[in-house]
Amino acid sequence: MNCPACRVPTYVVEYQEIELDLCPDCGGVWFDAGELDLLLPAAADAQLTPAVTAEAGRPCPLCARTMDKMNIGPGRRVLVDSCPACGLWFDRHEVEDLVGDLAGHDLDVDFALAEFLGGMFPAKGDEV
Ligand SMILES: [Zn+2]
Ligand SMILES: [Zn+2]
Repeated sequence: MNCPACRVPTYVVEYQEIELDLCPDCGGVWFDAGELDLLLPAAADAQLTPAVTAEAGRPCPLCARTMDKMNIGPGRRVLVDSCPACGLWFDRHEVEDLVGDLAGHDLDVDFALAEFLGGMFPAKGDEV
């Protein structure tokens, strides 16, 4: 798979027996359809709502159709790229933002997932 944002090849990491595709360049992460429901049930795909944004749509890394810009989470503050057939793309730190949003609404979340993804690229692009 190639990153839908920067087009470099992604690599696969495994988390709780689920394979996620990460981009080594931008730190984005791809969830195949249904995977997010397994890892963060409180943020199931069904809760996606169309986003109002000027950002250009990106091609789906699997089927190449232009993905939809969608908000996810109860606070609607996380913007993801969604291919209804294939899955969801989160930019760097967006999974952590989503976990924070869910937790802020007293929903069940997996903090370890956010830490796992946040720890993947500790040095790159962070203003520490
Ligand atoms: Zn990338
Ligand atoms: Zn697709």
